[in-house]
Amino acid sequence: MTTLLWLRDDLRTLDHEALTAAIAEARGQDEGRGDVVALWIREEGAEDDDAGRLGPRPLGAATRWWYHRSLEALDVRLRDLGIPLVFARGDARAVVPDVAAGLDASVVRWSRRYAPRSRALDAQVKTLLGEAGREAHSHPGALLTEPWEVTTGAGGNYRVFTPFHRAAADVPVSAVLPVPEALDGPSARTRDALAALRDAGVLTDVEGLELLDRTPEWWRDTVAEHWTPGEEAALDALDALEVALDGYGQSRDVPGDPDSTSRLSPRLRSGELSPRTLWHAARRAGESDVAVQDARAWTRQLYWREFCWSLAYHYADLDSVPLRPEFGAFPYRPDPALARAWQRGETGLRLVDAGMRQLWKSGWMHNRVRMAAASLFCKNMLQPWQDGEAWFWDTLVDADEANNPVSWQWVSGSGADASPYFRIFNPDTQAVKFDADGRYVARWVPEADQPLSGYPEPVVDLKASRQEALDAHAAMKAAA
Ligand code: FAD
Repeated sequence: MTTLLWLRDDLRTLDHEALTAAIAEARGQDEGRGDVVALWIREEGAEDDDAGRLGPRPLGAATRWWYHRSLEALDVRLRDLGIPLVFARGDARAVVPDVAAGLDASVVRWSRRYAPRSRALDAQVKTLLGEAGREAHSHPGALLTEPWEVTTGAGGNYRVFTPFHRAAADVPVSAVLPVPEALDGPSARTRDALAALRDAGVLTDVEGLELLDRTPEWWRDTVAEHWTPGEEAALDALDALEVALDGYGQSRDVPGDPDSTSRLSPRLRSGELSPRTLWHAARRAGESDVAVQDARAWTRQLYWREFCWSLAYHYADLDSVPLRPEFGAFPYRPDPALARAWQRGETGLRLVDAGMRQLWKSGWMHNRVRMAAASLFCKNMLQPWQDGEAWFWDTLVDADEANNPVSWQWVSGSGADASPYFRIFNPDTQAVKFDADGRYVARWVPEADQPLSGYPEPVVDLKASRQEALDAHAAMKAAA
């Protein structure tokens, strides 16, 4: 008997419910001789007449690089567990049933995903498998709490973080599952079936996924100086968590301090670490060397991620549709030259330029600077927040289908729990406050303080552009 494990954003072996169940199933069969085969699909082309695109948002370039490397690493770990990892491209509604049929898999397992378009696709795959006489089981694993477990008294969903957090933090977090014990490895029958699927063109190797197709080699080399994708490196990063947690409540807003935050976001994005593993790690830290307030402050951020995912569960297309509908008529003034200056870190506003260059060169940006950069873009520069969100989506190694659009909506004022519109970040004041020694700006924009370096004058006057943004907002409200 064979179980097919369809992996998506859960590229790990520790604390993996679907993997654990698949291995237990294999061990319980044929005197312990059942097989597990893992499949990862570069999903494309799934559409529906009614809903349009089905499935996850297509990965941005930086995330594709991450997944390519993380999948290579996972291949080795799964092989050690006696599980071959195979790859395919295309519409999961064709690929999953085809691979399951080729392997004669009686069960298919996967970790749940929560965005409406992905859920719709997964439901269709489940139906198709059922029609072919195969079982399909979905497991939790990407969140601390299932979105339907956290509801308001009236049974609806929360649109404001604080009450959401209060309710979600009440849901118990169960124990971390260990890495399961290895199977003997695939049987000759399964190996032959995989070879046949490869010959038939259903399966490819990781290179065949072409995840690196749009990224130049120099960019990949630069980003690789900052990150090592893969579960093993993720576990090393987890070992260093206490360093980031120590003093987190105070230091988390200081972008120039490399340890001011955990930098675990791409690990959560790709599922190299589960949120449950991190929740328990923070709790342990708070019970030993780290101040309990710091551990709590950090865990609270994990619940921000939960909150974003709860919104992404309830509202489709958060990357384009404002949660406050009146923002659909906001009088933005798209200007490609201005947007380009922002993308390149050439706005003449140092903190934002430092952040945008950190993003371009390392695939990541500190949260405080993300807020300042996003605010400048959609408020002072009056560029549609969707365009900035799309740039982040393409360039962040942690680009997340919930966190990114929800955060952009929060900054732009269109979000459910957005700060009041008049809260417009002044990047110069933010730099004085959070980069007081200038370390961050000096690292990423070294020419900013050199005379005749050609560093540009600010592309917008902060005071005048703030007023223009407030006027635009007032015009939107008047028209609503
Ligand atoms: P830590 O401070 O160590 O926090 C631990 C974890 O908590 C993070 O890894 C993350 O999963 C979660 N978290 C922290 N802050 C937030 C937050 N404000 N909202 C939701 N979850 C949070 N985060 C992403 O993971 N992916 C994105 O695509 C993304 N886009 C963003 C865009 C904008 C405009 C803004 C303002 C924020 C965005 N964030 C995004 C949230 C936040 O900036 C990052 O999660 C954080 O900087 C990651 O660094 P860290 O792992 O060191 O965070």
